Amino acid sequence: MSKFVVGLTGGIGSGKTTVANLFAEEGICLVDADVVAREVVAPGSHGLNAIIRHFGTEMLTASGELDRAKLRQRVFNDEQERQWLNQLLHPMIRQEMLLQVEKATSDYVIMVVPLLFENGLDRLVHRTLVVDISPELQVSRTVKRDNVDATQVNNIINSQCSRSEKLARADDIIDNHGEISRLKREVHALHQRYLQLSGNHNAHD
Ligand code: ADP
Repeated sequence: MSKFVVGLTGGIGSGKTTVANLFAEEGICLVDADVVAREVVAPGSHGLNAIIRHFGTEMLTASGELDRAKLRQRVFNDEQERQWLNQLLHPMIRQEMLLQVEKATSDYVIMVVPLLFENGLDRLVHRTLVVDISPELQVSRTVKRDNVDATQVNNIINSQCSRSEKLARADDIIDNHGEISRLKREVHALHQRYLQLSGNHNAHD
């Protein structure tokens, strides 16, 4: 991959989106795995057509879009079907993300991937950045944001790679326990560092 790519990750409610938007304010292009995952199953896409051929039109909403909740439910307890779906979508998502990286116009790119380590996407990036907060703060910020109950958030936290593993695998860590103003300063400092690293990277390309 020619362009320097930083993989941004962190557990639910850690502040990935907030941090990504601060990098965007610095003029950096974002490639967001969640957005790409929706694009590859948009109406008329090869991804959606393959899903419909396999699972039938009952996976569509009345307006012809993929019913993601229904699909999730369909594969939830069916390991074979879940694998089939992952084998269809994961390569498509990967390819589309790389395409968007190549199209990006900034000096480096931030790839926002909630399950960066869990799905092995850290192999696609040159450096990893983990947004870190305590599980208690993850729960309270997510409950406030999504209006869900704490048990649901705890279940999601437990299904994701642990805080200690993320921290052990991170090249850079951004602490998001404090105020947004502090986060801004931390992002600005990392941005300077990444500009320098991308400069070296491009010089050796
Ligand atoms: P993620 O994308 O990792 O799930 P978000 O960026 O959406 O996390 O942040 C989760 C919630 O916490 C959002 O409502 C966000 O506005 C809020 N938030 C993020 N960082 C801070 C902070 N430093 N102080 C207070 N609230 C924050």
